[in-house]
Amino acid sequence: MEEELLAKIDPEIFEAIRKETNREHSTLELIASENFCSEAVLAALGSVLTNKYAEGYPFSRDKQGNINFAKDGRYYGGCEFVNMSERIAIERAKKLFGADHANVQPHSGTQANMAAYFALANPGDTIFGLNLSHGGHLSHGHPVNFSGKYFNVIHYGVDQKTEMLDYGELLKMATEHKPKIIVSGASAYPRTLYFDKFQEICDEVGAVQVADIAHIAGIVAAGLHPSPVPYADVITTTTHKTLRGPRGAIIMCKAKHAEAIDKMTFPGMQGGPLEHVIAAKAVCFQEALSDDFKQYQKQIIYNAKVLADTLSGLGYRLVAGGTDTHLMLVDLRNKNITGRDAERALGKSNITVNRNTIPFDPQKPFIASGIRLGTPALTTRGMKEPEMKKIGQLIDKVLSNIGNEKVYTEVNAAVKELVESFPLYAERRAIYDSLAK
Ligand SMILES: *Cc1c(COP(=O)(O)O)cnc(C)c1O
Repeated sequence: MEEELLAKIDPEIFEAIRKETNREHSTLELIASENFCSEAVLAALGSVLTNKYAEGYPFSRDKQGNINFAKDGRYYGGCEFVNMSERIAIERAKKLFGADHANVQPHSGTQANMAAYFALANPGDTIFGLNLSHGGHLSHGHPVNFSGKYFNVIHYGVDQKTEMLDYGELLKMATEHKPKIIVSGASAYPRTLYFDKFQEICDEVGAVQVADIAHIAGIVAAGLHPSPVPYADVITTTTHKTLRGPRGAIIMCKAKHAEAIDKMTFPGMQGGPLEHVIAAKAVCFQEALSDDFKQYQKQIIYNAKVLADTLSGLGYRLVAGGTDTHLMLVDLRNKNITGRDAERALGKSNITVNRNTIPFDPQKPFIASGIRLGTPALTTRGMKEPEMKKIGQLIDKVLSNIGNEKVYTEVNAAVKELVESFPLYAERRAIYDSLAK
C-alpha cells in the first residue's frame, strides 16, 4: 500500500501529511478560497501520470487553426494515454461552461492570467483590474506582481457608499484611459458580478474582457451566478476553489483567441504540463457536471446567507450589506477588533479564517479591518443551515472575548463536537493513524 511505503521511506513527510489530514478534519475551514477535493481527484493526482513529459497539446492545428485530435502536437513520444486524459479534460471543461475552447494546462490561476494578458496585450499596455483592497487579486495588477510590473495598471473600485462595483465610474475611467484589457472578477467581492455590463464597457472603448472567475467557478458552472462565457473573450479560473478540484487553473476563450492563448500558455509561459493534475481536473469536471454538484453549490449559497444573517443579527457589519455568493466580508471596526487579531483568536479556537482589507480600509493589509468568510469547505463536509447558525454564534463568542483563553477552550469543545459529526477523509485518516509511529 502506498501510504505504508511512504511512512516507511520518509516518516517525516508522512507525518506532515498525516497531521495536515487531521488538521483539515478537526478545524472549521472558513477560508473562502479553500475546499476539500474528492478521493477520486486525489487518486488521479497521486498517479503515474506525473512521470510523463508532454510538452505541446493532444491535438494539432491545420493552417486555418482548426484543431485535429487525430494527430497530436506533442514534442515527446509515448503521449497516447496522457492525450486521452487531456482531451477528456478539455471536452469536459468546454461542456461544463459552454465555452468554444479550453486550455487545461495552466499550473495556477496567476499563470493563467499571465498567459491571458500576454496573449492579448504587450508589456506597457494599459490594463484595468479591481483594486486589491476592494476585493481584487494580486494578479490583477498589484505592483509587486508581474501584472503590475509589466503593464500600466489602472485600478477601478467599488462605490464608497454601496461597496458594490460602480460600472458608471468604470465606463468613465475606461473612456479616458482606453485600456487594452479590462479584467473582471475578484477574490473578495461578495456580490454578483455583471459580466454583461463589463462587456458593454469593453465594447464601448475597444477593450477585451478577461473574466477571472477563480472564486465563483463552481457557482457559475451550476448556473447560480451569471456566466461570463457569452460575453468575455477570455475566461480564466482556478480549479481548486468552489470548483473543488485539484490545485491548478484553466483558460477558456472564444475561438478567435484559441491559438494565441494556447501558444502563450505553452511555450510562452510554461514547459511540460502537469498531466496528473490535468487528469484530476478532468475528474473534477466530471463531478461538476452532476446534479449532486448543483445541489452542493446551492447549499454553499444558502449556507453563506445563513452565516451572514446570523452575524449581522449579532451586530456585525457586512461589507456591501451581505452576500450573493459563497463568501462575505465582515467589517470589525465597530467591534474594535482588527482583522489580524480576529484571525488569531479564531485560529486558537480551531476556526480558520483570513484577515482581509475592506474597501477604503484605514488599516494596512497586514493588519486589515475585516475578515473574509466562505462556506465551500464546510458545505463539502455536509454542514447545512443549523450548523451555520451555530458557527456564527461561535465566531461571535470568540470575537466578543478576545484574549480570554477560557472562552477559546469552550469554543474548541463545541468545534470538536461539530467536526466529529461531519467527519472528513475518515478512511484516509484511519489508515494514516494506524501507520503513525
Ligand atoms: C485565487 C485567485 C487567483 C490565483 O490563484 P493561484 O492559483 O493562487 O495563482 C487568481 N484570481 C483570482 C480572482 C483568485 O481569487
